[in-house]
Amino acid sequence: MTRTVLKFGGTSVASPTALQRVAEIVKGVKGERIVVVSATAGTTDALIASARSAEMGDAHQAQETVLRLAGEHKNLAADALGFESADVLKEIADLTERADALLQSVAILRECTARTLDAIVSYGERISAPIVAAVLEHRGVKAEALSAEGLVITDDAFGHANPSLEETRARAVKELAPRLKYGSVPVVTGFIGSTAEGVTTTLGRGASDYSAAILAAALHADELLIYTDVSGVMSADPRIVKGARPLTTLSYAEVAELSYFGAKVLHPRAVLPAVEANIPVRILNTFAQSDAGTTITKKADQDGSVVKATTSLGGLGLITVQGAGMSGVPGFAARVFDTAAAERVSVMMISQSSSENSICLVVPDEATDRLRKALERMFNAELRRHDVERIEVERPVAIVAAVGEGMRGTPGVAARVFGALGKASVNVVAIAQGSSELNISLVVMDKDREKAVRLIHEEFHR
Ligand code: ADP
Ligand code: ASP
Ligand code: MG
Repeated sequence: MTRTVLKFGGTSVASPTALQRVAEIVKGVKGERIVVVSATAGTTDALIASARSAEMGDAHQAQETVLRLAGEHKNLAADALGFESADVLKEIADLTERADALLQSVAILRECTARTLDAIVSYGERISAPIVAAVLEHRGVKAEALSAEGLVITDDAFGHANPSLEETRARAVKELAPRLKYGSVPVVTGFIGSTAEGVTTTLGRGASDYSAAILAAALHADELLIYTDVSGVMSADPRIVKGARPLTTLSYAEVAELSYFGAKVLHPRAVLPAVEANIPVRILNTFAQSDAGTTITKKADQDGSVVKATTSLGGLGLITVQGAGMSGVPGFAARVFDTAAAERVSVMMISQSSSENSICLVVPDEATDRLRKALERMFNAELRRHDVERIEVERPVAIVAAVGEGMRGTPGVAARVFGALGKASVNVVAIAQGSSELNISLVVMDKDREKAVRLIHEEFHR
């Protein structure tokens, strides 16, 4: 018997038509099926905004948002089912009461910790799962909504919790395997989990993909199907490049680079559990079921392409530490990175000039000033001696990355990338090439981001 995990994203569960497609897709898959769902599109953003209003003391605004979401979900369920399900209504009422109570306490305390925020945003997935399960049942598929709390077990890094595959496997075998055996389809909430003690956590924005991959690995699934609103991973973000095309195959390594550098279609951490368990992943379109989508495996077909896709990530800051006195000094780079680590700033990209007299770091924009100040403190003596001449900041910048295994060993790729940008007078602020040679990433000013993506795409996908 085959075992398939199907994940449906925000737009795939947000309308009666979409829910109808979901039911058709699930019915069309043979064998054991586990469904993982996101919150409906826009719900997580709205919940975060309501938590922020509550934190500012605006309990009314926060409550309005939750009541609006509850109303929308009631309508969605009624429209998709064609009747009002008492069970779904009860579930929505209970969850809404809980979310409202949490927001009221945030408003009283004027404080919303990461732990509280996780409890609040979990409402999104917890409210969509029962609706999806009810629609499946109504269409003749035995289904049951389950919260991933107590199932996907994580540490307590609220907001970006790290799952434990071992503990999750033990729970999944206990909770899900018997249901699968009886032919029921568990509809599990994506994005959320809990600590072993049962405190709600979330795995990071966009992480329902990750939840699905973890469950697929925990249950030794044969395949992981990620259903979204585009026909696979495309050669560029379709919102930026009109002529972007879906890619038939990608290797795990390629997709990891693409998602890390901004391809929102798949969560950056989602590939890892699947790689380790050697489970093929397919990205498919809920709304265009006959499209082939993208198949991600350990080794993708060599299709003769050099750059498969171009991605970008905006809203970043670039810090350059520069000085002639840095060359040949052992441990210099280590001090730069230790400073970033001590400030808990994640470094998105680094590049060092070969003369060793400058090191560039790309970090999230909001961390830029904090890190610059910390570096100034760290290199206070060197700055006074002029061994370090300056610590400069440029912002907002973006990383643009060209990715493809075909780049490995192909000469002249960088020249083509820079040639394309140069001809259009897009200034490249910094460059880095991963040692794996499957990615060239460069930094441009944020205002040039979309233009740079279009130019590189045009160069390699004419
Ligand atoms: P879901 O809710 O299904 O997880 P997301 O909105 O998280 O969907 O991701 C899908 C979206 O990712 C697409 O609608 C598209 O706008 C965006 N996207 C960005 N880059 C790419 C890319 N290279 N290929 C496909 N989609 C991309
Ligand atoms: N609902 C969550 C988010 O918007 C998780 C997801 O959609 O994957 O971040
Ligand atoms: Mg997503």
